[in-house]
Amino acid sequence: MSATGIAILASATEALEAAKRLAPGLSRRAAHYDHRGEFPAEDFAELREAGLLGLFVPQRLGGLGACYADYVAVALELGRAAGPTALIFNMHASMTGALASTPDALVRALGGSDQALRARDRLLTAALNGSLFAVAMSERGTGARLSELNTTYAREGDAFVLRGAKSFVSGAGHVDGYLVAARAQERNEPVVSYFFVPAGDGVRVEASWDSLGMRATASHDVAFDVHLPADALLGGVEGLALLLAQVMPQWLVASYAAVYVGVATAALEEAARQATTRGLGRLPALRARLGRADAEVAAARLCVLEAARAVDAAPGTPETNRAVWRAKLMAGDVAAAVASSMLEAIGASASRRGNPLERLYRDARCGALQPATSDVCADYLGLAALGADPNAGADEPRW
Ligand SMILES: Cc1cc2nc3c(=O)[nH]c(=O)nc-3n(C[C@H](O)[C@H](O)[C@H](O)COP(=O)(O)OP(=O)(O)OC[C@H]3O[C@@H](n4cnc5c(N)ncnc54)[C@H](O)[C@@H]3O)c2cc1C
Repeated sequence: MSATGIAILASATEALEAAKRLAPGLSRRAAHYDHRGEFPAEDFAELREAGLLGLFVPQRLGGLGACYADYVAVALELGRAAGPTALIFNMHASMTGALASTPDALVRALGGSDQALRARDRLLTAALNGSLFAVAMSERGTGARLSELNTTYAREGDAFVLRGAKSFVSGAGHVDGYLVAARAQERNEPVVSYFFVPAGDGVRVEASWDSLGMRATASHDVAFDVHLPADALLGGVEGLALLLAQVMPQWLVASYAAVYVGVATAALEEAARQATTRGLGRLPALRARLGRADAEVAAARLCVLEAARAVDAAPGTPETNRAVWRAKLMAGDVAAAVASSMLEAIGASASRRGNPLERLYRDARCGALQPATSDVCADYLGLAALGADPNAGADEPRW
């Protein structure tokens, strides 16, 4: 336990055990937060105290130094317990994971300075001490197409001015800071960079999130009008966003795949529970639905675990990146299909508000919609199957 009352995780096993220990509480509160469309504050108080916000912080800074597969194991558990909580956690993890896993040598080779590396370490240390971060990339109309962002930044002396409006910012208003993607003003070609913007002056949250599923993610709109110091530019290099999307797709494309496999697992388990309670297990058609769902969830899980193994063993290779895109496609499609089938298996009573399957169905529906959407993942994999370069071969830019 640190002086801040936050547990210090000594191993990946401890992190997974913490997630398993907290899961019943998350699961118990999920209906309440969904019903009210509220940020799951108690869940995050517990995740913070358990030390899970520092999962990716390297050992040299006093953290656990988790690998990608360690994160996936935790996210599968959290997603099974409470999808929205796992999704907000995923945004924090994708930012801290990307910061922690980009080698210093690569940052320097791209032109990053010692000042940028020190700024990165300060953010990771803050996460270890319980700070929670959000990702503010998407915009209304533009979605996650980085090259078309309307949020811009400009240099002002050795500082930056950043202005724009973001949408779908999970955790908005409840986090300590935002990773904001912005386009360089007055440049013809899209130069898209990441900035760290602390919550506070110049950051205005508009409580706009009222959605079909993942209602408890507080994914509100956020307007930014801020002056930032030079070291707010992450990596210390402009133009990193589009490059990272291609070479480290696990953070942008697939880190939430584990969340949605968790949600699909919960839908299957909940349907089996309700079928047992209601004596529906005697129906062959219902058993077949459960059986198919079991196989589909297991296949999606294996896909996600295989992608995680590949990311840790050989990050950025074409094979690894295909595994990453495959995992996102499988997770999004399987979650939606399994939750829909489980709702139908149990029948109309499962569609009533208050039935856990109704909530899981709505949450599961969101996986395929998050970028890269299932259609976009399938296009990437289709191009690769045709022997084309899946990054360069698409007619429409993906980012
Ligand atoms: C629950 C939830 C939480 C979220 N949290 C965050 C968050 O914390 N931070 C954040 O930045 N964003 C977040 N998002 C936003 C999300 O990541 C997307 O940016 C957003 O859903 C894009 O929405 P859009 O309506 O613009 O659709 P688009 O993604 O633009 O899609 C519209 C249609 O066009 C298709 N399409 C899109 N691009 C291509 C292409 N290149 N080629 C072919 N077809 C294409 C899609 O498949 C889809 O059919 C969240 C979304 C959800 C649902």
